This record gives sequence, C-alpha cells and structure tokens, in this order.
Amino acid sequence: MTSPFRLSPLNPPPPPPPSQNLPLHPDRPKPESKEIGGDCENRDRIHITSPFWDLQLNGRWGWSFSDPEIPLDVVGRLIRRLAARGVGKFCPTFITASSEILAQALERLGEALSLESWLSDRVAGFHLEGPMISPRDGYRGAHPLEAVRALRLDEFDWLQERAGGRIVLVTLAPEWPEALETIAGLKERGVVVALGHTAADGERIAQAVEAGATLSTHLGNGLAAELPRHPNPIWIQGAEDRLMASLIADGLHLDDATLTCLWRIKGPERTILVSDDSPLAGCPPGQYGPWWVDEQGTVRVVGTSYLAGANLDLIDAVNRLINVAGASLDQALACVTTNPARLLGRTVDPGDYVELEWDRTSGLWSVRGGEIGGRRFRNPATPNRRDRMNSWREEPEAIWD
Ligand SMILES: [Zn+2]
Repeated sequence: MTSPFRLSPLNPPPPPPPSQNLPLHPDRPKPESKEIGGDCENRDRIHITSPFWDLQLNGRWGWSFSDPEIPLDVVGRLIRRLAARGVGKFCPTFITASSEILAQALERLGEALSLESWLSDRVAGFHLEGPMISPRDGYRGAHPLEAVRALRLDEFDWLQERAGGRIVLVTLAPEWPEALETIAGLKERGVVVALGHTAADGERIAQAVEAGATLSTHLGNGLAAELPRHPNPIWIQGAEDRLMASLIADGLHLDDATLTCLWRIKGPERTILVSDDSPLAGCPPGQYGPWWVDEQGTVRVVGTSYLAGANLDLIDAVNRLINVAGASLDQALACVTTNPARLLGRTVDPGDYVELEWDRTSGLWSVRGGEIGGRRFRNPATPNRRDRMNSWREEPEAIWD
C-alpha cells in the first residue's frame, strides 16, 4: 500500500557525509568557555551549550518519519544531519494515520534505530501526535480526517508494543469522551501527555490537567483561523501554570507579538521550542504533490498560502526568542535543552556539547560544531544567519571527525 508520506521519489536525499564510523576518544578533554575563541576579540562570540532537544520533528529533506517504508540507511543520514545542526536528542513525530500504518511506521523506525546505538541514543523517544485530535477543520491542521479517532488504551498498548516501548509523548485533544481515561492510563504507563489540535473549553482543559496532561503542543497553532476573542484555547492553556508549552518560533506560525506574549505568560521555566519540521523542510523550491515549497523554503498547501508544517532550525528559534521576545541567551537555550529534558523526566547528557558562534553583523547565533555521543563535528562555514533565515539555499555538509 502506498503511503501518503512517500515523498522520496520527488526529492532524493543528499549523499551521506564522508565519514560516519568515528572512533571514540573518551579521554579527550572537554572544552571550557575560557579555552574557546583564541583571541580576546572572539571570546565573547563563542558559547558552549548542551546539544538541543527537539520534541517535535516530522521529518526533513524529503523524508518523513511517518513513512512505513523509509529506507533504514536514510534514517541514519537524517539523524547525523540533524546532529550537525546541534540536535543531540529528538522525538520523531508520527501524525494521525490508520492504526496499521502507524504501527508499521513505528516498527520501521525502531528497526532502523536498532542498527546502531549511536543513532538510537539520539532519539529521546517517539512522539505520537494524534490520532485523538479534534476532527474540526482548522483545529485538525494537516492531519487526515478519515484517520482521526479516539485513542483507547488497548490500541495504545498495541502501538507501543510495535514501537518497542519507545513512545514517550502523546498529543491529544481532551474533548473526546474517552480522553480522561486515556490521559490517566498514559500517565500510569510513564508516557507524557500533551494537549494539542484541541477545541476544548476551560473546564475540560482543567480536567485533562488533573488527569495528568503536562504540555500544550505548539500553543497558538493547530487552531481555527478565527477564534472567539475570549475564552479560547490559547488563553485557557496560557493561564494554566501546570502546562508547559511548546512553541514554533519561526516568525510564521507565531507572529512576533504572539510569540512575545506566550513567552511572557509561560516564562523561562515552562517554554519549550520545537521545530515541528515538515518532511519537506530543507527541500528546494517547487511542488511536491499537494504541497509546495516557496523560495524562502516555507512549506505550504498548493494553491493557498496555508502553512503545511515548519522549516525551522532550532538555533533560529533560539535567535528569535532572544531578538524578538527579549529572552536572554541562557533562557532561550534552556527552552531547547533542560526544559524539554525535564518535561520527559530526563536530564541533559553532561558529556556532550555544542559550540555556538555569534555573528556580529546579523546579531545571530549559529552552530559551529560540537561533540554528540562521543563524536565530534564541525560546520565547514559559519553561514550568515540572516541569509539562512530569509532564503532557501543548499546547506554545506558538516564534517565529522
Ligand atoms: Zn500539530
């Protein structure tokens, strides 16, 4: 059966980077900030941080993690390219599909990850976004209506088994009659529950939080274009301090004023930045079935201006939170490191690091290199970040030592 996620014939991925099987150097000293930079002028432009965690990533460069036929070697190439952008842990995200397709995709990715421990170590767990979301237009986003349904615990257990126990995060809409039982059952199983693509009212959101939900998925998106001015799901979840919120800070999914407001109401402890990258993120401009990629690299529905997923580098989300919403560098980095780790009940790996470089001209940070899972990489050219953000272009392949 042909998968709706099959994009590969239109856009084959780039060839693999030259060297993938790298020797480990456990005794190599880790750099300190003071050792980096060399001369005084450079010193304040380099920052060492933990590798990023991306809790929501559907795919990239023409490939979808929801594709039950994704070639096993492609998964490795995707993960290495993501790591070279500073992503040390991420949640491959599986959107609404039939039970059988979902199970096949979960199993397929598990199979790819089991080939190499370095690859499986990059995955914080699987994110199941759906199928229990709002069936209503707008709220449902790009999820296929025919596969939207209640997620009962017996179906979840079956999917979890096929996923090899890797599902750690489920996004659902609590207005479904079965939802509270599902939320409580997921919590019991150690799975984090997020609310998203929901039209629930305040009472229902409160019940969902009581039952164990702890995150709002991409708050401000997955909603009807026109909402009641108040109350609406943004204000209700914004005011709920027991919910952290993930945000897509690409300047398109959230305008600057909304990003600033959501940052202020959730604050540095409860904000998480995600890419929510589309499988077409990073693809050259052109039409891909029902979607098109414009000159800026934005993924849209053909014939409309509607967004169909994001094309966002997490470091650019960090830049935006700093330059638009007024976060400090440390606060913005917490949104892609310690905050997502804490949501999942985990901690960042103290042995890994990413080097950030600040570009004086653009005022933007970029990933210069680092060490992830014992493997060092460097990005060959530090791009001018403003160019990167404003147009589509080929990315130079990172070099792995
Ligand atoms: Zn979504």
